[in-house]
Amino acid sequence: MASYYNEHTVLWLNGEFVKASEAKMDLYSQSLHYGYSVFEGIRSYKNIHGETKIFKAQEHYQRLAESARLMNMPYKWTADELIAANYEVLKRNNIQDAYIRPLVYAPANMSFARNTELLRIKTSSYQRPNPKGFNIQAKAGGHYVNSILASQEARSTGYDEALLTDMNGFIAEGPGANIFFEKSGTLFTPALGNILPGITRATVLELCKELDIAVEEGQYTPAQLKNADTAFFCGTAAEVIGWESIDETKFPKDWNESISKQIQTAYKERVTEKEIKKPKVKSKNSLASA
Ligand code: PMP
Repeated sequence: MASYYNEHTVLWLNGEFVKASEAKMDLYSQSLHYGYSVFEGIRSYKNIHGETKIFKAQEHYQRLAESARLMNMPYKWTADELIAANYEVLKRNNIQDAYIRPLVYAPANMSFARNTELLRIKTSSYQRPNPKGFNIQAKAGGHYVNSILASQEARSTGYDEALLTDMNGFIAEGPGANIFFEKSGTLFTPALGNILPGITRATVLELCKELDIAVEEGQYTPAQLKNADTAFFCGTAAEVIGWESIDETKFPKDWNESISKQIQTAYKERVTEKEIKKPKVKSKNSLASA
């Protein structure tokens, strides 16, 4: 098996020829963490006249540019520039028969947003990956291209974040958080199967038990969510963060009077190891059992 490079290999990195063994990339790139990159696989051959020829180079670079466009990745190169760089790389490495790997990756673009206000959420046109196509329970980098596309779409249309449905059209989760909604004193959350089994989601379920809050896991439609009193996202980064609206629908219940808010407070208490106070506002469950 041929290895991709050796100690003498020269590659082309953002316009510069550098030794492969010395080329670096930033570790805080979404390409490393979330598989956010586009690439090509191209071959060059020594032809019958002894010349080096890259096969279908224009087609490959057109596809690369189109891949970058579809993934909303900045792409400033022309095919001719890249093809010229490829020929120069082949020359500098003294090879004619080669497999060429152009890769477009993101710069250091990781960010961490602290949520302070209720979120305005948009139902995404993207669905969560089909669990038959991925091991959806795995927190695998490549799965997060789906999350990036959904977040970009929501933000580009003026919303704070996206909500994705599963392959059957039931509500699933956010790009990086699970969802609960509240209706008439009960909390509802999508069942496991088509979502990431969130550790925060499990903590919320634990808190519901401790606080006597009625909670159900199941399959819920976007229409059921729109008819909810309140809703929230939960995740390690997001913690418990309430929603103001989904698409054009505002949630009617005052967040501060909601069961969701009780969960938010209890979660803050749990993470700081404070003793959790039982809420004054009773959920449907505690009323039923009272
Ligand atoms: N769903 C997705 C897609 C996520 O990326 C995350 C964040 N890890 C979650 C849910 C919430 O998981 P956790 O509570 O374990 O952070």
